[in-house]
Amino acid sequence: MDIRLLALLVPAVSLCQATLAAPPKKKLLLVSHTAGFRHEEGIAAGERTLAEIGERSGAFSVAYCRTADDVKKMLTPEYLNAEKFDGVVFLNTTGDIGVPDLKAFIRWIETGKAFIGMHAATDTYHGNDDYLNLIGDAFVTHGRQCTIEPLVQDPKHPATVDWPRGTKIHEEVYIFKRNDRSKVHVLLYLDKTPDDGRPEANQPGDCLLAWNKVQGKGRVFYTAFGHRGDVWDNEVIRVHMLGGIRWALGLAKGDAKPGPAKP
Ligand SMILES: [Zn+2]
Repeated sequence: MDIRLLALLVPAVSLCQATLAAPPKKKLLLVSHTAGFRHEEGIAAGERTLAEIGERSGAFSVAYCRTADDVKKMLTPEYLNAEKFDGVVFLNTTGDIGVPDLKAFIRWIETGKAFIGMHAATDTYHGNDDYLNLIGDAFVTHGRQCTIEPLVQDPKHPATVDWPRGTKIHEEVYIFKRNDRSKVHVLLYLDKTPDDGRPEANQPGDCLLAWNKVQGKGRVFYTAFGHRGDVWDNEVIRVHMLGGIRWALGLAKGDAKPGPAKP
């Protein structure tokens, strides 16, 4: 071969090998269809952020499920298996989004897939016990946006291992129906109610913010963050979300047993 041609080819070959050496390990479907309130800002920022952290970490690639027709077509075990998805993210979904067979979808998760909920994922399928038991809790209310200082419950879990103590975040803070530490493995919490202008504001309490759990062979990670666009740009939150997602995808180890009891 002409040596000049070889010189041209070598960098191209190296580039190909570098690309082939690190394909995204897993594949996630980002579901953002809403049947109730729509978080336009949180959905746009969430889609962009999750695609970025998946690509930069090499942990996962994403595809999108945005409309009622997408949900009908994509959220079936047959489609998810055929397209080789490793998990699904409910990204600020609200209401009854129209999963064709919710029980069958949950059984698909239980075969060893990841189910990840962001913010309004707990404002989805209200009154459906199967969904409540999958995600672990249901949104009840929130007051005005306020600044909180989340406390780390499990400093070893990939979702919280890098959380800097004392981090303050301005966000809409969800209050949950169960708020029950015996149902989920608590990752982040507040030791008082948020200063959100409600009559119950800024009083001693125990408010859960992020958790994980195992269902069947499936892994569930939920974080209440993701309302405000700038929260998705917060590096602490991005690292928290990537850690939780990596755990749910089986790429990182972490405890999932329910609890602990209120400290
Ligand atoms: Zn919200």
